[in-house]
Amino acid sequence: MNDNGFFGQWGGAYIPEILHQTFTELTAALRQAQADPSFWQEFLQLMSSYSCRPTPLTHAANLSRHFGGAQIYIKREDLNHTGAHKANNVMGQGLLVRRMGKKRVIAETGAGQHGMATATMAAKFGLKCTIYMGEVDVQRQRPNVFWMEKMGATVVSVKDGSRTLKDAINEAFRDWVTNVDDTHYVFGTACGPAPFPEMVAWFQSIVGTEARRQILASHGRLPARVYACVGGGSNAMGIFQGFLDDPEVQLVGVEAGGRGLDTGLHACRLCGRDASPGVAQGYRSMFLQDEDGQMRETHSVAAGLDYVGVSPILADLADRRRVRFTAATDSEVMEALDLTMRMEGIIPALESAHAFVQAFKEAAEMRPDEAIVINQSGRGDKDIFTIAHAFDDPSWKEFIVERARQYQR
Ligand SMILES: *Cc1c(COP(=O)(O)O)cnc(C)c1O
Repeated sequence: MNDNGFFGQWGGAYIPEILHQTFTELTAALRQAQADPSFWQEFLQLMSSYSCRPTPLTHAANLSRHFGGAQIYIKREDLNHTGAHKANNVMGQGLLVRRMGKKRVIAETGAGQHGMATATMAAKFGLKCTIYMGEVDVQRQRPNVFWMEKMGATVVSVKDGSRTLKDAINEAFRDWVTNVDDTHYVFGTACGPAPFPEMVAWFQSIVGTEARRQILASHGRLPARVYACVGGGSNAMGIFQGFLDDPEVQLVGVEAGGRGLDTGLHACRLCGRDASPGVAQGYRSMFLQDEDGQMRETHSVAAGLDYVGVSPILADLADRRRVRFTAATDSEVMEALDLTMRMEGIIPALESAHAFVQAFKEAAEMRPDEAIVINQSGRGDKDIFTIAHAFDDPSWKEFIVERARQYQR
């Protein structure tokens, strides 16, 4: 990275003048924290007492035998508090907010997972919290809205534009510009204006550091390949950082193939041909946009991968061929999920299942003395409505209808 927050040709900080001072202060706070070993110690202590870290590395013995190739290991980020790797980022930013002396946090959320994690952190640290969410997403993600409010957060339903994530991001920036003095914007992934990509990747590096140590302890040597799904890119950056300096370890990022790469209904920014370079939401990266730079609709069965942009750090690693990018389609994801639940008793999030798809495709052709690691970014409990619907489960449908009837009485 250079001094202006660029990774190769990607990244930077395209921000309004009024936020310059805030970004200077934020970068200074980050540099101080990075230079102070007690900050990371405090982070490790917090994550071990509040979020089950270190999370285990599970040998998936049944799946390994089933494919008859590489030994499959799963990094269990699903066992974090709130059920995903997002906790690593928000708790880290919470510690930083405390150092900066700010009293209020805001965040935007699409699927509600980042909003949940931020509301949790705010409750724990005694901060005021406002979460911006598109009106459409508020309706789609009722359970998350319920819990955020129960944890004391104010959820603002954004009624502008398409009433989804990008409108929520605009509204959050508007709030920040008005309340910079006491408010920190908790960015949810390794995107956005510098220093956010670097900051989020730093907090998530805890995943890769642990995974490297764990695979050496259980397998005796480094894995041949590491797989992670890619939405904004934070869980992928998290695990990849443990192996970036080991050229013999192949790193594989899996994007949302949606209905298929030739249907236009997907979220492939770094594989496929539909994305192009652009500047949006404060940073330069590959975006799914039309010729006028208007952001396109994206599609994925996994809400967390349904995003127009991607981490500038990953865009650079793609340029340098250090990370290979592929895609998994919605229907492939359902198959991988089915197999993993049956054979291992583990329920990956729909997002994470994308990484499983590609790992399963490649494992069979590898040798049994080779190991691969899949980052299970989160747990699938949150996806019960989508998964039950996709499997067209009749008794689930009856249950939903009956519940609705109870409320009408
Ligand atoms: C949010 C989310 C993602 C996508 O975000 P990244 O920044 O790409 O990691 C992936 N998996 C789960 C479980 C999530 O909640």
